[in-house]
Amino acid sequence: MSPPAADTLESLAITRLKGVGPRAAERLARLGLITLEDVLFHLPFRYEDRTRITPIGALRPEQGVVIEGEVMAADVVFGKRRSLLCKVADGTGLVALRFYHFSAAQKNSLEKGRAIRVYGEPRPGAAGLEFYHPEYQTGPDLPPLERALTPVYPTTEGVSQKLLRNLAGQALHWLQGHPPEELIPPALLDQSGLPGLAAALTKLHHPQPDGPVDLLLDGQHPAVKRLVMEEMVAHQLGMLTKRAGQKALAAPPLRGDTLPRRLLENLPFTLTGAQQRVIGEIRADLARRHPALRLIQGDVGSGKTLVAACAALIAIEAGHQVALMAPTELLAEQHLANFRHWLASLGIDVHWLAGGMGAKARRDTLAALADGHGAMVVGTHALFQEAVRFQRLGLIVIDEQHRFGVQQRLALREKGRFGNQVPHQLTLTATPIPRTLAMSVYGDLDTSAIDEMPPGRKPIQTLALPVSRRDQVVERIRAACRDGTQAYWVCTLIEESDELQAEAAEATFETLKQALPELTIELVHGRLKGREKAERMARFASGAAQLLVATTVIEVGVDVPNASLMVMENAERLGLAQLHQLRGRVGRGSAQSYCLLLYQTPLSQTARRRLAVMRETTDGFVIAEEDLKLRGPGEWLGTRQTGELAFRIADLVRDEALMSPARAVGESLLKSYPDRVERLLRRWLRGGEDFADV
Ligand code: ADP
Ligand code: MG
Repeated sequence: MSPPAADTLESLAITRLKGVGPRAAERLARLGLITLEDVLFHLPFRYEDRTRITPIGALRPEQGVVIEGEVMAADVVFGKRRSLLCKVADGTGLVALRFYHFSAAQKNSLEKGRAIRVYGEPRPGAAGLEFYHPEYQTGPDLPPLERALTPVYPTTEGVSQKLLRNLAGQALHWLQGHPPEELIPPALLDQSGLPGLAAALTKLHHPQPDGPVDLLLDGQHPAVKRLVMEEMVAHQLGMLTKRAGQKALAAPPLRGDTLPRRLLENLPFTLTGAQQRVIGEIRADLARRHPALRLIQGDVGSGKTLVAACAALIAIEAGHQVALMAPTELLAEQHLANFRHWLASLGIDVHWLAGGMGAKARRDTLAALADGHGAMVVGTHALFQEAVRFQRLGLIVIDEQHRFGVQQRLALREKGRFGNQVPHQLTLTATPIPRTLAMSVYGDLDTSAIDEMPPGRKPIQTLALPVSRRDQVVERIRAACRDGTQAYWVCTLIEESDELQAEAAEATFETLKQALPELTIELVHGRLKGREKAERMARFASGAAQLLVATTVIEVGVDVPNASLMVMENAERLGLAQLHQLRGRVGRGSAQSYCLLLYQTPLSQTARRRLAVMRETTDGFVIAEEDLKLRGPGEWLGTRQTGELAFRIADLVRDEALMSPARAVGESLLKSYPDRVERLLRRWLRGGEDFADV
């Protein structure tokens, strides 16, 4: 392949386009848009259909629509926050527009009787369905409706959709005289029925009004498929090259039978078949000269900790150090207690490292790790700190991996590096990665599933109740606690701030104390100091308190087998993964457990579906697949895996069938056309993505 000539898509700077001055260029660069090629491959991630009007009577929550009607009233209202509330009717129904920021002129322009066209997504609000800060135009004369779909691009502050649409238009114009290079040889890509690159790009940026709108909207159009395919190939290539880098690393082979066997002999129960199988898989991994990177997936309560303990003992017996890291102090403390309990009889000290510890204790731990006599350490993020040094770190165990970013995980691994030798790594998660994602995002990552529960566990029964039945729920707690069981009451709040969450939990705590004077109730939230929180948790764990009111701080790791009733407030606001995690706090003993999901009406379609899934199943793998379907991979990855990739146009659920072919094309390219690999990666990944490295 010849080097790029002067005027190629790849070499033409975006500043050659009209309307791009130095300031705009700087902002566009933040989106990774430097060249014309970047502009062309910056694809709309969705389209708005502004070609037709939806009757108000047919509105559904959270669907982007155009409505047209007449202003009935526009008033400033004083609720929690002052807002401008405008009512619009079209003969089929009435809907509200709400503005928290507005001007007097804006209020005046919304005079009664005026024709109005609104574009936006209605949501359930105080006045029924409401549009928050929608785009709108007022009459008397409204312009004709759009005739083509409106592309919506990923963007950043200071870069308008209008600018992006305009740039795409100019780039397409240039494209007509300069067809782009096809980097995937047509022989490799089954092109039957798929358009060439130029045609596909044109279709996606400029969908024509006569085209099949629905096909484009739901991604079934050949133009979409053509580009999805190329993007998937690029991602597979990214992963394949990264994995090749991994394989070049070495690790100390670790073997040990005696310590794990002695641990198991001391237990009052035997391992489940699934635990035995997974320990076998880990044992084989650790014995190799390459670093293990294995994800252990198992539902809450499936016994992952014990499996991790066996792995740790193999490493310790082989003369290496082990670090176990958890995302919260609460969870890390539970691990510490378990490991101390299990390892004490084997004569192994378990060291502790977390943020809130005293200077002396911290020094002792650091010294033990640095000189190598400390074989096992449990801790939090504190383990990444500069001052932490290991003598022979051979195994890293990470619990609940989604809470840690790639960089943090790598930082810990670096602490065990000698030349090209790094420690083995196991990751425990109760939020299984849906199969679809496992393949596309994690490549050929090794996974193990603990897909069997310890015997005697009864599946949790789940009910969803409107909040109007709160009193009955309180009675249910009274009765359950009278019978000697314990209960959780989880307060959730949409606000992210710890402080507001704490306030809400405080208020609920007071109300429940009034309603249930005969019970001892504890309260935990994220604003408490570590020690205070630990003491309150301990009182609940010991049974001294029967009811624990908590924020979502208890999401992971809390283990009180006698608790068999869980109430979650505002359950409709939580995602499936979080609901499942929280629910996992019960069902850990032999009693039948119950989970009551209290919700506010009206429910959006998605919320209704989520609650239904929770009622129907307790299987974490099924829930993960449903979660992916409901939220889409972008969000799934975006919120759970900070910094890791999101696809630009491919949709992992919708395009699952293309995954294997993309993989095959990627492998052939790597073998037969290695010179094109880098260009494809640049075109699609722009070097910004970080592949998941569990
Ligand atoms: P996870 O971390 O997977 O949610 P844990 O490791 O905390 O689950 O185990 C949950 C509980 O089950 C713990 O009290 C643990 O001691 C117990 N346990 C683990 N394995 C078994 C087993 N094979 N049989 C009975 N109980 C078990
Ligand atoms: Mg656990």
